[in-house]
Parts: sequence; structure tokens; C-alpha cells
Amino acid sequence: MSDIIQLLPDHVANQIAAGEVVQRPASVVKELLENAIDAHATIIKLLVKDAGKTLVQVIDNGSGMSVTDARLSFERHATSKIRSAEDLFQLHTKGFRGEALASIAAIAHVELKTKQEQDEVGTQIVIEGSEVVSQDVIVTTKGTSIAVKNLFFNIPARRNFLKSNQVETRHIIDEFHRVALAHPNIQFVMYHNGSESFNLPESNYRQRIVNIFGAKTNEKLVPVNEETEVLKISGFVGKPEYAKKTRGEQFFFVNNRFIKSAYLNHAITSAFEGLLKDNTHASYFLNLTVNPQTIDINIHPTKTEIKFDDEHTLYAILRASVKHSLGQFNIAPVLDFERDANLDTPYNYKDVHNPSVPNIEFDRSFNPFKEKTVSGKQITAFKKQTPANWDSLYVGLESKGTQTQKDFSSVQFESEEQTGSIFGDHTQVEKKQTTFQIQNKYIISTIKSGILVIDQHRSHQRVLYEDFLKNMTIKESMSQQLLFPVQLHFSPQEIEIINQVKEDLEHTGFLFSEITSDHIEISGVPVHVPESEVSVILEQLISDIENEVPDSNFSPTDLLAKSMAKSLAVKTGQFLSVQEQEHLVNSLFGCKEPNMSPTNKTTFITLGVDELDKKFI
Ligand code: ADP
Ligand code: MG
Repeated sequence: MSDIIQLLPDHVANQIAAGEVVQRPASVVKELLENAIDAHATIIKLLVKDAGKTLVQVIDNGSGMSVTDARLSFERHATSKIRSAEDLFQLHTKGFRGEALASIAAIAHVELKTKQEQDEVGTQIVIEGSEVVSQDVIVTTKGTSIAVKNLFFNIPARRNFLKSNQVETRHIIDEFHRVALAHPNIQFVMYHNGSESFNLPESNYRQRIVNIFGAKTNEKLVPVNEETEVLKISGFVGKPEYAKKTRGEQFFFVNNRFIKSAYLNHAITSAFEGLLKDNTHASYFLNLTVNPQTIDINIHPTKTEIKFDDEHTLYAILRASVKHSLGQFNIAPVLDFERDANLDTPYNYKDVHNPSVPNIEFDRSFNPFKEKTVSGKQITAFKKQTPANWDSLYVGLESKGTQTQKDFSSVQFESEEQTGSIFGDHTQVEKKQTTFQIQNKYIISTIKSGILVIDQHRSHQRVLYEDFLKNMTIKESMSQQLLFPVQLHFSPQEIEIINQVKEDLEHTGFLFSEITSDHIEISGVPVHVPESEVSVILEQLISDIENEVPDSNFSPTDLLAKSMAKSLAVKTGQFLSVQEQEHLVNSLFGCKEPNMSPTNKTTFITLGVDELDKKFI
């Protein structure tokens, strides 16, 4: 038999390796920025065109490369950063695999210009799909510029797989933020399609965060600093009241390298326990410094996951220091004499407009030894004298109580045809109820052939979604003017997103009186949107736009309708009155596509009588 194993030609091997290193334009951004940092640059410029699909270029003022190194840098496993396997445990650089440039050059048109300080002239190399097209001597300044054009030009499948420009830009900005946050001592500038999107001067860490996320961020930051034998922590966590619906601003850096760690994230979440509202996420910007020998960063090609020798200890220290910082911060409000005393009133009392001291009547002739009659009398007297508004404290409880009663009687009512004679007349007092809520989650309704079980949250999403979509397309929705415009603060990127969908938002009924680079002012909201929900809706919307991986027929209108429906739909766990239940059921079946939520989840199921019969065998 003949031999069949062949060594892959280099350019094929490089393309395969490229698949691991370069998933999208943002991966190129990350690799090039990290190389510039490793080269000790103090100013790094990033130029992007068409979300990186046309161009990603990084220009630095770092060490530059010699002629030989310039050529070698595109070879696989060519690196100046490690020499032996042991070096892997002493890493002080970002790169070490010597794979990035080789991989990038395999799948793009790359132009490198570089010069070392001591050299008279520099080197220019053009390389396309691993083929060196030209190498020239050029006049240039100290440092390196690498331009990566037409990414995936020779792998059309990968190119087609790229998402919309909006999504790819988002990924690029994320990488840019991560690198910029890890290195506040370096100046970073980013241009997209010729205009400057970020200019981050050399600064301290707090300023860097503020420069990226907007001026309003400053007051939200609580410093965290801790130094132990195994770990140094520095950075900030966001105050609990500013927690966001999205996980957007969560950054861990280990030895200046951005990492993702569900485990350490959990340490922070548990430090925030009891301080956060449901479904909100704390922000954090934390730098952990550990001995490089105690971590292994080599487990993931894109190097965002690392392995710690002693995760449990890190967890404990991290959790304790964040807790400590939050604790120090939480003491402050108690000493604040300007605090509005009303805020300290237990929640029930706030709703009672004119709280009055209950008028306690007592029976002067009360004799504890004279049993029964006296104490009976006393109770009635007390009851009568209770001020009306004290009753209101029990309203919620009472109505819930009667509701369950009603449900129960109605269940009996259903079977009245057979049992009516046994139960007598008392069931007839109520109008026939056709829906029931169970577990504050599902609505049960009867149909001829059996019963319907309806998911209240998903169904309401469907109803609202179709409603919003209609309003946006006919562009004639009603807006309610706000007496006092609401001002909301956002980061520059968030504002950019709002600008993109502004028109659609206006069609749903939003009115914007001002949009600046760090805040917006809203003077009108859609009729059915409560003012208090506005910030939640917009936050949700921004995060949906950021995270949505849109399919080919992606439309911002659709996304907006989905997002708003999600924010405003009744939640699981919310009690619904019978009328509300009926209204929801009717509206659902008035929808074009009642059986699916906007995100294609089942809204209701039917249980036929035959299926029920089977259960009773
Ligand atoms: P790695 O960063 O893992 O070493 P790369 O493929 O990213 O591998 O880079 C290969 C080599 O090219 C680096 O080790 C470095 O010597 C050189 N290099 C790359 N980018 C730059 C730059 N911007 N400035 C100076 N040298 C660079
Ligand atoms: Mg590198």
C-alpha cells in the first residue's frame, strides 16, 4: 500500500491556524494592539474602516523591527517573546505564540511598515495570503504600522459569516476598551471611517474608565484595593444603585490581561448579595496581579481564559475585598444628615397619605377577671374605630385572599352542570369566570375540546410586539408629553446606538428634546409606557442591540419592538385580575401569530379532553 500521509503546505496550515486566532475583525484588532503594547509603545492608533471588513490598521511608536525580524514576524511560531517552555511561566508580554501575524497574513492583504530607533531607514513588506508580494526599504518614523485589508478575502465562507457592521464594530470597540482599560498609561486613539471615535490620553485608571464610559461614571465608582501575599487587587466596583440590566461593564484583568472567569464573577456577585435589584448586574473594573508562575494562560487560543493554581483562595480574597469596599461605602449614607427622612419610612407607610395614630378605645369598665362578654365587646369597639386608611394596608392581602376563593368557587362552577343540585344556589351569584391564573405564571382557559395553558409573560410579549410593530410602521403612534423631561445619562457608544434607532423610537411615541454625547433628554413617551420604566426600556434596548446576533433579515424596527415588548410585558410572578387575564387571552388570540412569542417561544399549549381522560385511567 502506498503512503498517504502528507505534510500540509504552510499556507494551508496557516489558514487552519488562522481559524483559531482570527474569528472576526475584532480578533485582528486585539492581536495588533497587543503587539504594539509588547513593543513598549506609548501612543497607539487604531484605524478601522467598514467595521474592520475593509481595513484594520494599528500604528504604534514602539520599538519597531529590524529588516530580518520584519520578515520573520510573519513566520509561524516566530516570536521574540519566549525562548523556552519555562518562559511560559514567566510571561510579562501579551503575545508568546508567534502565531498572530502568520495567521493574519494567511487570510488578508497585509502591509507592514516598521523602523527601529537606531536605524536610518525602515522596512516595508506587503504580503497577501501568506505570499510575500514585495519588500522595500522605506523612509518612516520609529515604530510599526500594520494594515490588514480585506480580511478573509480567500475564505469567502468566513467572510459571509461576518455579522452586520454594527455587530462587528461592537466587537472591535469591546476589544479596544479591554486593551485600553488594561493600559491607562498608554495613549489610545481610535478612528472609524475617518472620524475619531475615541481619544484616550495617558491617565490614571479612574480617568481612563471615565474617558471610555462617560463623565457620569465617575460618581458610580467605589475603589477596591487589597494586597495579600498571593494577590493584589486594585480597581473599582460600581455602586449597587447603578447596577445595570446588562453585563456590559464587567472587566477582570489578570496581570494586565483581560480575562473571562465565571468563577471570579461569582465571587463579585456574592459580595453584592442583597444589594442589587433583581436581574441587575454589578459593574466592575478590577485588576488582579498574581505571580505569573501561578497561572496558565496557554489554555485558550484567544487567551481570554486562564487557569489559576489556587482559585479558591482568589475567590475568597476577591469576595472579601469587594464586600469590604462596599461596606465602607454603605456606612456613608447613615451619616448623611441631608438624607430625606421619608426614604427611611417603611414601605407600607409611604402609600398612606395621612397616617394618623390609631384611635385606641378601651373599655374603662374592663375587668380581666370578668370573662368573655367584656373582651368580646372590646374587640368590636376597636374594629369600628380603626381609621379607614389603615384598612388600605391590607387591601393587597385581602384581594388576593378573595381571589383564591373565587378561583376555587369557579372550579366548582365548571362542574356545576353535574353537581349543581348538590351545591345548591350559592354558586350562581358570580358571572361565569373563564380564566384562572396559576402560580402567577400561567393562565388557564377552557375551550370546547379541553383547556388552554397560556404563558402570561410570553403571550403579553406577543401582544405588545405586534402592537409596537404596527405603530412603528404606520408612524402614527400617540405620545404622552412629560411634565418634566427625563434626563438619562449614557456612555458615548450607548448614545451612538440610541441615535441609530432614534427615528424608530420616535415612531413608537418617544420624543427627544436633546441628545448630547453623554446624555439624552426625553420629553415624551409612548402612551402605555410608564415614565418610571423609560430608563429600563432604553437600557434593555441598548443591550439587545449590542448583543443581538442579527440574522439576514435583521431590522432595527423589529428589534426595537421585541425589546420594548420584553421590557414591558407582565412578568412571571405578577398577579393578574380576572379582567386582566381575560383581556390578555383575548388580545393574544387577536394577534397575527398568537402561538409564538416574538423570540419564537411557545406562548400556549392545549390539553385535550382525551389527553386528560388518559390521565384518569
Ligand atoms: P507573538 O506576539 O505571539 O510573539 P505575533 O505573530 O503577534 O506573535 O508577532 C510576531 C513577532 O513580531 C513578535 O514576537 C514581535 O517580535 C514582532 N512584532 C509584531 N508586532 C510588532 C510591533 N507592533 N512592534 C514590534 N515588533 C512587533
Ligand atoms: Mg502577538
